[in-house]
Amino acid sequence: MDKTHDPRATSWIEVDPSSDFPIQNLPFGVFSPEGEAPRVGVAIGEFVLDLSAVAQRFDIGAPAEVFASRSLNRFVSLGRETWREVRLRVFDLLHVDNGSLREDADLRSRSLFERTRVRMQVPFEIGDYVDFYSSEQHATNVGSMFRPDNPLMPNWKHLPVGYNGRASSVIVSGTPVRRPLGQTKPADAESPLFGPTKALDFELEVGFFTGKENPLGEIVPTSQAREFIFGLVLVNDWSARDVQRWEYQPLGPFLAKSFATTVSPWVVTLDALEPFFVEGPVQDPPVLPYLRYEGKWALDLHLEVWLKSTAMSKHQRICKTNFRQMYWNMAQQLAHQASNGTNIQVGDLYASGTVSGDTPDSYGSMLELAWRGERPLKLDETGEERSFLQDGDSVLMRGWCEGEGYRVGFGECEGTVLPPLDSSSSD
Ligand code: CA
Repeated sequence: MDKTHDPRATSWIEVDPSSDFPIQNLPFGVFSPEGEAPRVGVAIGEFVLDLSAVAQRFDIGAPAEVFASRSLNRFVSLGRETWREVRLRVFDLLHVDNGSLREDADLRSRSLFERTRVRMQVPFEIGDYVDFYSSEQHATNVGSMFRPDNPLMPNWKHLPVGYNGRASSVIVSGTPVRRPLGQTKPADAESPLFGPTKALDFELEVGFFTGKENPLGEIVPTSQAREFIFGLVLVNDWSARDVQRWEYQPLGPFLAKSFATTVSPWVVTLDALEPFFVEGPVQDPPVLPYLRYEGKWALDLHLEVWLKSTAMSKHQRICKTNFRQMYWNMAQQLAHQASNGTNIQVGDLYASGTVSGDTPDSYGSMLELAWRGERPLKLDETGEERSFLQDGDSVLMRGWCEGEGYRVGFGECEGTVLPPLDSSSSD
C-alpha cells in the first residue's frame, strides 16, 4: 500500500463521493477531444486529465510522446515500475495540497476536459483476446441446462477452460451492436436456417489487459502475474445462443461470439485495486503445481447489469453479483495461458467468463436469469418480458470496489442492440 490508497486523500478537483473516479483510482484510457487526435488520459471525477499535455510541462515519469498515442500500448510497454511512477506523479499533481497544476490556468485549460465532451476509444491495440469460463456457478448453470446429470465437465476443476476470441471486434462502450445473422437449427426443423439470431444475450465479465511481453516458448509462473497484469475493465461478451448451440461442437464458440465484444474504456490498474484483493474460494481437488498461487487473488468487485427497452425511460437493474467468488483467478488464467509456451503480448485481453453468483438475481447472462426462457424477466416500468434481448435494448454494466467513503469504480460498459441487416436474400 502507498499514499494513493489513503481513504482520506482528496483532489483539488471536486469529486462526488459516489463517483467511480476519485483520486484513489486514476484509471487510464484513450480519449479524443472533439475534432482532435486521440491521446492518453486519466479519469478524475467528471474530468479527464490529458497526460500528453501535462507531460510536456511536468516530469510525470514517462515522456509526453508515449501519451500522444491512440492506444495505451506504448506507455504500458515501459513496464510496471513506470506504470506505478506515473500513477504516483499524477496523484501528486491532482492532490489537494499541490498547486503546480491547479495554479497554472493555461495548462489547466489545455489539459482538463469534461468527460461528457470527449469520445472514448478502445484503450489498447489488442493483439489477442481470450475468454475464460471461470465461474463455477455459471458453468454449473449452463451445464445443467444441457447435461442435467453431469453439469461440470471432468476437466473444469483442473484447468481454467477458455477459447481464443476475436480481438478485432472488441469495441468500446457506447458503440451499438447489430443483431447478428447466423445459422441455427431449431429442434423441430429438419435442416438449418440462416437469419437473425433469436436468442441474443449478454455475458457480464471482467477482463484484464497484459502490459508485458513473454517470448514464445517461455512460461509465466503465477508468482509473476503482477508484473504482467496492467489493469482491468468490464467486458460484455455478446452471444447468440441459438447460433452457439448449433455450431459449437466439436471446436467451441465461433460466430456466436465473434460479432462484438464490448469493453469499458477506463482501465483500472492493479495498483488502484490493491486494497480490495481477498482470499479466493478453496480449490478442491488441489490444482496441479503450475496453477498453485500465493497471496490474495480474488477481487471484491461489485458488479451489476441494467437493461432498458426502447419503451422505458430509464434502466432497470436485472443482475447484482460480485467478482470475488470466481473459482479461477487472473494469476492462474495467465499462468495457464502461458503454460505451453504461448507468447504473451502487451495489450492482450483476457476475459473472466460470465460472472454468476449463487442466487437467481446474481446470474450474469439472460440465458441464466430467464433460465432458457422458462422464467422470463419482467421489466417493471412497462410490463414487458424478456427471455433474450430485443432490438433497441440497451445493456449497461457497472462495477466498483467499495472503500471507506470512496469507491474505485469502472465507469460504464454499455451497448444498444440494432436491428439486423436484411437477410431475406439469404433465406
Ligand atoms: Ca464468455
